Amino acid sequence: MAPLLFPQIFLQVLRLFFLIPDGEIHPILTAEHDRFAWVDPKQPLSEEMRKDVGDVFARYCEHEGIVVSADVPRAHEGFGLIQVFTGNGKGKTTAALGEAIRALGAGKRVGIVYFDKGGDHYSERRFLQSLVLSTTGCQLRAVSYVATGRDRMDLSTGRFDFSITEADRTEAERGLQAARDFFEEGRDLVILDEVNSTVSLGMIDEQAVLDLLDEKPEKIEVVMTGRAAPASFLARAHLVTDMRLRKHYFYSGVKAREGLDY
Ligand code: ATP
Ligand code: MG
Repeated sequence: MAPLLFPQIFLQVLRLFFLIPDGEIHPILTAEHDRFAWVDPKQPLSEEMRKDVGDVFARYCEHEGIVVSADVPRAHEGFGLIQVFTGNGKGKTTAALGEAIRALGAGKRVGIVYFDKGGDHYSERRFLQSLVLSTTGCQLRAVSYVATGRDRMDLSTGRFDFSITEADRTEAERGLQAARDFFEEGRDLVILDEVNSTVSLGMIDEQAVLDLLDEKPEKIEVVMTGRAAPASFLARAHLVTDMRLRKHYFYSGVKAREGLDY
């Protein structure tokens, strides 16, 4: 017993000195995980494997507080689920754009609504624009985007306007309408970029977004990005990824860099 206790005591002492937040270290499941380092999601699992994976996953869920969506049919195939990318770390919008590229590569049609992102500072839009132009003439373009929100960046001073005004609320409403239009057009993937933060900052009601999700046609996949996603979005989603901030050059004084951060 004593040798088993020692690492625990050692960790507690370490925590006291280095203020390691609880939950930072996950030594418990490593051995079990090694057995399932890679399970090919395209292959059906044998009954025996299904049970083994199920057991390990159940313990993992308990340890990490993961909730399995009860409303996804086990045999769900294709588009139609809801994903949320939230958290304080970098990578939410770019992960959504990565999925857009993947969907386009698979011949799917994508609609992107940018919330609270007016202005012309976002380099990916130049690329998206070129895709839109290359498919102009087609009745239904493979990718379209609608940018809503004020331009918060004052290029002459470099200052960012954090205020929330009536114009922001009107623009956010326009974003919701754009999403509805994409639903009506039957886009396979609809990305609501920064919708989480737009809600948490009070520009649109949480309920208005939940109502939008209720209107989502069955086969359309929705990706919602932005910090501080409300609990109701996490509950509604079938996938939640919390981008966790571990380091960011911004805090060392490196400003946002064109082509990487915008
Ligand atoms: P990205 O668009 O690079 O995927 P993101 O969508 O995860 O980032 P946002 O919260 O939307 O991040 O912030 C947008 C901008 O802020 C981006 O330029 C991003 O690089 C930067 N950023 C992301 N995380 C942080 C952070 N923790 N501190 C400061 N800036 C950040
Ligand atoms: Mg973002």
